[in-house]
Amino acid sequence: MRIVIAENRGFCSGVKRAIRIAQENAKGGKVSSLGPLIHNRHAVQELEEKGIKVVRGIDEIEGKVLIRSHGIDPKLFTELKRRNLEIVDLTCPNVAKAQHYARSLSEEGYEVVIVGEAEHPEVKGLLGFAGEGGRVFTPNMKVGMRVGVIAQTTSDPDQLIGAVTYLLPRTNELKVYNTICAETLRRRLEAISIAQEVELMFVIGGKNSANTSRLAEVCSRYVRTYHIEDAGEITPDLLDGPDSVGIVSGTSTPEWVIDQVIKKLRERRNQGDEER
Ligand code: SF4
Repeated sequence: MRIVIAENRGFCSGVKRAIRIAQENAKGGKVSSLGPLIHNRHAVQELEEKGIKVVRGIDEIEGKVLIRSHGIDPKLFTELKRRNLEIVDLTCPNVAKAQHYARSLSEEGYEVVIVGEAEHPEVKGLLGFAGEGGRVFTPNMKVGMRVGVIAQTTSDPDQLIGAVTYLLPRTNELKVYNTICAETLRRRLEAISIAQEVELMFVIGGKNSANTSRLAEVCSRYVRTYHIEDAGEITPDLLDGPDSVGIVSGTSTPEWVIDQVIKKLRERRNQGDEER
């Protein structure tokens, strides 16, 4: 069995940065993360063991408050400051750039349309920067004549193209910022390329991770694909038949989780060689 492993794997730069700074802060006393720092239960568990507590609301905060890589609504930021909380802002620089464009488009009088998942924390934060007219793109939405578009950093580029195609004939002026993060795009292109050359694909990452789910979706267009959180989900029957397997991962998947999947597949391959 041939195993093809993506070169772009493990944490992305934004997640690495957030984890490094969070851990440094945890050494000096209590820290609370406003929501899970990243969308991966293995990583969140590890961080909790290092003293980073996940809280759901402002009233639960103890010690310093960590703003995760997804960023937050500026109104929430103001409220944290009002309460004199010590803030450690881990907003990914790519997300901060999207927030900046949302705000500048709104200030220039554009109706801001965000391409992404309405329920995702990054998009909820972006809406806060997009001013009163800010909305998440929906098919058949009605818009005014001057529209500014940004995308959730982990969006599928096809979604952004689809939204622009829809909006173009319905506006007089359309300003588009491509805010999709380059790391997301690189992983997507590599995933598509691997999916085209193997018979089975494993996409590793949290079930609650938006970028992992999108990788799994795009791979499934080409080949039988399983979105798994760890090696424990690979049952022997899944490996009966295929001669080649591809492995890709989301941007919030720890390297050790990927290594365990690789190890399991290699063991299976070696076992197969012995049987032959
Ligand atoms: S996927 Fe891109 S935008 Fe999101 S945290 Fe990673 S580097 Fe930042």
